[in-house]
Amino acid sequence: MSFAELWQELQPIGRHRGGGYRRYSWTAADAECRAWFTRRAEALGLTVQPDHNGNLWAWWGPEGAGRAGAIVTGSHLDSVPDGGGYDGALGVASALAAVEELQARNFRPERAMAIAVMTEEEGARFRVACLGSRLMTGSIDPVAARGLSDDDGVTLAAAMSAAGGDPGLLGPDEDLLARIGAFVELHVEQGRALAPMGAAVGLARGIWPHGRWRLDFRGRADHAGTARLADRKDPMLPYARTVLAARRAAAENGALATIGKVIAEPGGANGVCSSVTAWLDARAPDEARLEKTVAAVRSASTRYSSECAVALNVRQESYTPPVHFDEALRDRISGVLAAAGMEAPVLATGAGHDAGVLAARVPAAMLFVRNPTGVSHSPAEHADPADCEAGVHALALVLEDLAGAK
Ligand SMILES: [Zn+2]
Repeated sequence: MSFAELWQELQPIGRHRGGGYRRYSWTAADAECRAWFTRRAEALGLTVQPDHNGNLWAWWGPEGAGRAGAIVTGSHLDSVPDGGGYDGALGVASALAAVEELQARNFRPERAMAIAVMTEEEGARFRVACLGSRLMTGSIDPVAARGLSDDDGVTLAAAMSAAGGDPGLLGPDEDLLARIGAFVELHVEQGRALAPMGAAVGLARGIWPHGRWRLDFRGRADHAGTARLADRKDPMLPYARTVLAARRAAAENGALATIGKVIAEPGGANGVCSSVTAWLDARAPDEARLEKTVAAVRSASTRYSSECAVALNVRQESYTPPVHFDEALRDRISGVLAAAGMEAPVLATGAGHDAGVLAARVPAAMLFVRNPTGVSHSPAEHADPADCEAGVHALALVLEDLAGAK
């Protein structure tokens, strides 16, 4: 089955009105995605097995000990709320198409190969991004993971059980990690660097350090029609100035800072709020610039809060240090693509990925497929069919090189 045919089959699954995707882990849409992947991988003669953490593995080649040093590719099939169709899904469909291309050329891998579909990469349901790879590598405690709950209060353990999984098995998977010789994830570009360079495919240098901070502004609820301006303790004021300070600090430090979620309480249209809670997402090319950016936001919001007689509490909710992908693997992939006439520029990204989590334990690399507008996490996310085909071909060449060597 060609990439275009695979894509046509996958596209309707979990698509919501307005064109965005709601493929949340352990839901009906997720089960449909998994069933589609299993069917397509088995049609290629691959053996599909779930691991202990709910990730799916489709193996090509020998069983048991023969699987050491396996060349693994793959990505994820879950989405952010109303996300685009390419994020994650492109890597999985391209992996299936690349294996098909290799089989059509009668390629016989010397090393085992696998396609992995990682679970809950976006953290859209249980709020921890790259949950499947974090569990596998032991970077999140399985007891804490089981207790994670979605917006309806359903825990990961309950959701996984309802879908036929066994949450009791969650946790580090050293046997599986020991079998991976290299992990190569193909992903739609989430930015617009390749388009001006005229390149269909790029390679990842690393992932920026990034984190999330929660800011609680506490003031005093009051009457919008009677409370004098001078008497108010309005948390909305320091919050609003903090949004602008975040933008300024990011620009000054060559970083990115976003406040994309805010809760104003009690939220009456005719009243001063008692509290405003906002979440700051900040990312930078290095930890020093990230620290400077967050420190600038923190000191500005502290100053604004005290000017408005509002109490402020800032708490770090998550932090991911920088990821540097394996240089030898990247050079090798770059050489393979250059030999085939595909110059793949090397890019840094501010987006997290399973390959970034796995990079702490195994040699990992990422291929990016050009996104002409750069828009991602949106129904407007797009990659041209010709570029998707180029991505499949590039991935096939890379897998051929890596799995063809003894
Ligand atoms: Zn993704």
